[in-house]
Amino acid sequence: MRVHHLNCGTMRPWGAPEGLVCHVIAIEAGTGLVLVDSGLGLADMAAPGRRFGPARFFVRPAFRSEESAIRQVESLGFVAEDVTDIILTHFDADHVGGLADFPQARVHLTTTEADAALAPRTLIERERYMPAQRAHGPHLVRHEPGDGDGWRGFAAAKELTEIGEGIVLISLPGHTRGHAAIAVDTDNGWLLHAGDAFYHHTQVDGGGQAPKSLLAMERLIAADWAKVIGNHQRLAEMWHQATEDLLIVNAHDPSLLRRAQERNRA
Ligand SMILES: [Zn+2]
Repeated sequence: MRVHHLNCGTMRPWGAPEGLVCHVIAIEAGTGLVLVDSGLGLADMAAPGRRFGPARFFVRPAFRSEESAIRQVESLGFVAEDVTDIILTHFDADHVGGLADFPQARVHLTTTEADAALAPRTLIERERYMPAQRAHGPHLVRHEPGDGDGWRGFAAAKELTEIGEGIVLISLPGHTRGHAAIAVDTDNGWLLHAGDAFYHHTQVDGGGQAPKSLLAMERLIAADWAKVIGNHQRLAEMWHQATEDLLIVNAHDPSLLRRAQERNRA
């Protein structure tokens, strides 16, 4: 499958000079376009307070309409209705902001994440899941990645065959209660979008030190920090074993986005 790597939301948190992106994948899947995450949307730019909450003062999104998934999908020559399905790593505002721009799309996520977003249990969950982000009534499709065949050592994985072959939802809780990673079998080999399972490439490639402010933010908003640490370790192992046929990206690291875009052009 042909994929496009998009930055659907530049953010400039204090202490992270490289800035952050919202890495969205657009997959040309035969029947239409499939997105992995949706970044920031047009409604966020119109009402940042209601849609993003106080977090906007820390992560400082640029809110540029030309970066929204809808505008970039249009520049690729598609229309909003071509986007049939959106698969979410989780329901934080910087991942679901674009949903309202594709009201007809089915929105796939883990059952646990849907439960967390619709019925938050903890203070962190009540703060992070903004009701305005689902005020348009998205068509949620819940999945329970169980112990099936698994995917490359991840036991809890489910191929989303109703969308297409080679798109796999992998349960990877920690950052949120029902966080997931998504694996896609692309023209250039497998691609793993790890969402917010890690923030900075050094956490998996071991090549240096992530900005302290990013690490502090990651820990502050983690639903289960021990699981986050475990995810870092698993993904680091996978990173070092990865051959040419697997590319690991995450949601916010600009260098991983550039790497994926360059690999697409190569
Ligand atoms: Zn995020």
